Amino acid sequence: MRVGFVGLGRMGAHMARNLVQAGHAVTVFDVRPEAVEVLVELGAEAASSAVGVAPRAEFVFTSLPGPVEVTGTWQGDYGLLANLETGAIGIDLSTVGADTSRSVESEARSRGKRYMDAPVSGGVGGAEAGTLSLMIGGSEEDFEEAFPVLSAIGSSDKIYRCGDIGAGSVTKLVNNLIGMTTNVVIAEAFSMGVKAGVDANVLLDVVTASSGNSATLAQWKDSVLQRDFTPGFMLALGHKDVRLALELAEQLDIPMPVTSVGKERLAAALAEGWGEEAVAVVARLQERDADTVIDGRPSNS
Ligand code: NAD
Repeated sequence: MRVGFVGLGRMGAHMARNLVQAGHAVTVFDVRPEAVEVLVELGAEAASSAVGVAPRAEFVFTSLPGPVEVTGTWQGDYGLLANLETGAIGIDLSTVGADTSRSVESEARSRGKRYMDAPVSGGVGGAEAGTLSLMIGGSEEDFEEAFPVLSAIGSSDKIYRCGDIGAGSVTKLVNNLIGMTTNVVIAEAFSMGVKAGVDANVLLDVVTASSGNSATLAQWKDSVLQRDFTPGFMLALGHKDVRLALELAEQLDIPMPVTSVGKERLAAALAEGWGEEAVAVVARLQERDADTVIDGRPSNS
């Protein structure tokens, strides 16, 4: 297949590489030329603009930070939709709100084009291994047609059609609301445990083997406990996802008291200037308030 790919960040670079390695003819673009260069060395073709990936492409993917970049790249007379080949399918892998996905799809339809939302989960490790889960919002027909190419970036048993356009984005926000705010709860629980005298590694091992375990906790082993907040998934993006979830809840008139507190903690960490660190860096706020450090390095035992 001929594939276009825009956005070669922590996730997109691996996904584009997996498409190349699956034998697709991939044309790539990112505003960072060095990111494009890496993919060209792996066999992709470079485009000099986002719309430059569209000619002759049967599928065009974007993996961009958020709604502003997604609408800016797809919409308008100079955007990707206007330049998609007739019959091609546009697929956005970014995490955005359902309103963004629906707005882009509505313009796609008015231009006689096809578009689906396909946010992903599984982190940089999942992107690298090609084992992401994908949450698709789009027609059954488009889903079936895109499935073989989607299988290059996700596990084929984890590619879900969640419903029509926007349903993938809603599902992703449900997932990330849980994952992001869980960091805040783990920080409170672990600061209490450590201050009460239990080793952070013991807490991690026992909770991991018990009912408090979660995918978020699994990330703490190499981040908070090692005092290494290299992202993975940046705090700024995690904060964006919880903000988008709360916007959706507001549209639906649903109270979200616990999520609101979680978002405030992420916002406070963002205000500390930690936006480009891993989301688990939010633990530092709690450590400061609790006057304790959740440190699992050997020198601390
Ligand atoms: P990132 O910031 O590492 O990558 C974004 C890329 O987009 C960068 O390379 C940037 O240069 C490029 N970019 C920005 N604006 C652009 C534009 N207008 N045109 C072309 N390129 C542009 O982010 P990421 O971690 O790769 O995440 C990408 C998306 O995937 C986000 O929506 C994020 O919420 C979502 N996501 C991330 C993870 C993760 O673990 N990192 C997991 C699941 C979903």
